[in-house]
Amino acid sequence: MPKNRDAARANLESLYRIFTVPEAPDSTLGAVDQAITDDVAGFLQTHIVAIERSMEEIEASFSSFTIPEEPTYVSEYTEFVKDNLVAQSVHTAAPGFVGHMTSALPYFMLPLARLMTALNQNLVKVETSKAFTPMERQVLAMLHHLVYRLPDDFYPRWIHDSQHALGAFCSGGTIANVTALWVARNRLFAPEGDFRGITQVGLAGALKHRGADGIAVLVSERGHYSFGKAADLLGIGRDNLIKVQTDNSNRIDLKLLKDECRRLQDRNVIPLAIVGIAGTTETGNIDPLEALADFAREIGCHFHVDAAWGGPTLFSDRYRALLAGIERADSVTIDAHKQLYVPMGAGMVVFRDPTALSAIEHHANYILRHGSKDLGSHTLEGSRPGKSMLVHAGFSIIGRKGYELLIDMGIERAKHFADMIRNLPDFELTSEPELNILTYRYAPLKVQQAMENATPQKRAALNALLDQVCMLLQKIQREAGKTFVSRTRLRIARHGEELTVLRVVLANPLTTDEILEGVLREQCEIVQRPEIQALLHQLEELCDDPAAG
Ligand SMILES: *Cc1c(COP(=O)(O)O)cnc(C)c1O
Repeated sequence: MPKNRDAARANLESLYRIFTVPEAPDSTLGAVDQAITDDVAGFLQTHIVAIERSMEEIEASFSSFTIPEEPTYVSEYTEFVKDNLVAQSVHTAAPGFVGHMTSALPYFMLPLARLMTALNQNLVKVETSKAFTPMERQVLAMLHHLVYRLPDDFYPRWIHDSQHALGAFCSGGTIANVTALWVARNRLFAPEGDFRGITQVGLAGALKHRGADGIAVLVSERGHYSFGKAADLLGIGRDNLIKVQTDNSNRIDLKLLKDECRRLQDRNVIPLAIVGIAGTTETGNIDPLEALADFAREIGCHFHVDAAWGGPTLFSDRYRALLAGIERADSVTIDAHKQLYVPMGAGMVVFRDPTALSAIEHHANYILRHGSKDLGSHTLEGSRPGKSMLVHAGFSIIGRKGYELLIDMGIERAKHFADMIRNLPDFELTSEPELNILTYRYAPLKVQQAMENATPQKRAALNALLDQVCMLLQKIQREAGKTFVSRTRLRIARHGEELTVLRVVLANPLTTDEILEGVLREQCEIVQRPEIQALLHQLEELCDDPAAG
């Protein structure tokens, strides 16, 4: 009998046991624990069920709204977890799951994450983290060096400086982007003379001080939605998040960017920051960072690079140059839970100027005292886990060259997959991979040809039907559960309109060319289904209809 069955009685003795007695290896939880220790990939493979239950069915297991009155057995609860959570989870580590940015993890992340949980350090202050604080500061310095490559004598001065931080470790790219814009905002409205700064007087007072009517952030239409949240949160307003159109390669159009800046000037709105993207979430493209750096300098505004996805490309000797200009950014976001292969919940933002984060510095009497090395004085978040240990582990174990291999493999596989799509006449590549992300759609050759000299109305009608094909195709493939690609809607410059496209992210090193061929083969099979054939039939008729233009 598992020892912790005792915990099912609410008395002091059982309470004591759940804090002290480890789970027996022959108990249900003990067995799960052992199974993921022995072979986590095998465990996921066997316990995640491929066929989806409907969300309604799943919700039924989570519909009670009262906290259980009585304790339960750990084993009983673990059974519940196996059946209702594990079985109905998404197998994000599967090599055929190429639709999102979440992929497989190196095996050592799991035991180290458990160690992290066991230690339960809180990075907000040295008093609850001790060695974890210098370790995290080192991780931030390493990332800073990867991005900025400042001279070697720069780092010893700043790495463990009690007054400053080279960056902020946070739960992901969203908080990293918010932090970057928060710093930019506070530096734009820094205290001077009688003006006590936006931190004290708020946005209205700050604008009055500058005689301005607003502040704006400029980013391409491919910008991540976290900038919308940041604009809302920081008082910028979503209307002042200016989304600049992109060119044929999904990169910000510089001429339009400059036009937008002129329009802001006419409205007496100050550009707070220009954001360049290094690896757009949907298409993996990189903005012209050098040109953006030049322009940001010209108009004297903060230049932020969102490299949440593409940042680790800096590890690659072959592809690093794609990000040229990133080293001129005032701040750079890089997600660790994406291409650093750390479990979910880790991102970072680094600042070129080691004093930049002072703009959001805050202190409290019981912790975060002046002169302490507490990292919490320079972060948006308060209590934080020791996740940086897992980044440290990745940097140490995989190393620059290991990450380089992962990056190079992903980019080359994407180029190869693009070739595979180009070789299928009934598929259309809608965005060329620059990194390891690409988009495409199913579009019969005949429709593609008819599109070329069709009137705008006919094109729109054809595209509307193709959108439906794409949507159905993705849905059927997802529900079949063998392989997975995602879908999105993008304005494709060549078509001049927003289209539904399939999106593939190639970050899992276990994804082989055979698996990718399988993805396309399955899609060719799915389009034979009657519901899609009906749409294809309509497309064909439309193509042949001379009256449709
Ligand atoms: C993923 C991503 C983000 C947001 O990161 P989260 O970790 O999901 O908060 C921001 N920008 C880009 C380009 C991203 O790919």
